[in-house]
Amino acid sequence: DAKAQGRNTWHWFEGVATSTSNEYVALRRELMEAIEHEQFVLYYQPIVAADSGIMRGMEALVRWQHPERGFVSPGEFIPLAEQTGQIVAIGQWVLHQACSDLANWNAKMNRRLPVSVNISPFQFRRYGFLEELRKTLDETGLDPELLELEVTENVLMSGVGQGIDTLQKIRQMGIKVSIDDFGTGYSSLRYLRQLPINKVKLDKSFVMDITENTANAAIVQGVITMAHHLGLVVVGEGVETTEQAADLKQRNCDLLQGFLFSRPVPFDQLTATAEAAQSIAD
Ligand code: C2E
Ligand code: MG
Ligand code: MG
Ligand code: MG
Repeated sequence: DAKAQGRNTWHWFEGVATSTSNEYVALRRELMEAIEHEQFVLYYQPIVAADSGIMRGMEALVRWQHPERGFVSPGEFIPLAEQTGQIVAIGQWVLHQACSDLANWNAKMNRRLPVSVNISPFQFRRYGFLEELRKTLDETGLDPELLELEVTENVLMSGVGQGIDTLQKIRQMGIKVSIDDFGTGYSSLRYLRQLPINKVKLDKSFVMDITENTANAAIVQGVITMAHHLGLVVVGEGVETTEQAADLKQRNCDLLQGFLFSRPVPFDQLTATAEAAQSIAD
């Protein structure tokens, strides 16, 4: 259930919250100020075709530019924001900014690249989320076909029926859906068949040792084969070496994402990054 899931995402903050609740209160207040003063910034990481290296899309990744702490990574503040419910406001900002950025960039560059946005369980399950999606697409003018939501398998496992219902409505709007960090949650391969999704993102823990660990390689191969049977696109996450890229490509993985191709970059570097990806491909 939602509570059990919240506990799973608690790791970073748990120690702080139980030892000094003052710090919990302080951080929650800082996060409130961050929302109010828009101290967040979106970075974009390219997702490239495994066969050609051509950029096929990008993932929006939020960062917090804290006035004193400097850059805070999402792994540190998203779990806290989930606990406090502040993820709703942050998620709304992220969704709007990503859609607006890409609508503008595509218009300027005369391209049609899709953008992937991470959606927290709390956000996904919230009443009003579908309306928020509709409104954001309306306001930013982004083609729904160019928006992709990344959800984790656990989001869909708890309250399966309701999760699928929400997914179907999202798909009816023309928006695409990926399962993020696939392989780290509780869902079975068979379960995938029931879900109206488009993509599976293989978690980086599988990709990391794919060239050394034959058991992992077998899992990866199994997921790719099965996903293709279900008509799903497969993305390999966390690709850092040419060996990993070659291995995934040889296993028919469709898309790749990782530091090998590019780190996440600020919006103003997107054009240069896209051009670099193109020239690698040429
Ligand atoms: P994720 O959605 O699985 O995003 C991929 C993470 O892997 C990003 O970390 C990215 O920088 C990192 N990464 C990419 N390529 C490589 C690589 O080659 N090697 C390694 N070691 N890492 C790589 P980041 O930006 O720190 O984000 C961490 C997580 O925070 C994300 O994992 C996602 O779950 C969450 N997150 C980020 N932005 C948002 C957001 O706007 N909303 C929500 N709800 N969650 C977000
Ligand atoms: Mg993601
Ligand atoms: Mg992931
Ligand atoms: Mg993740």
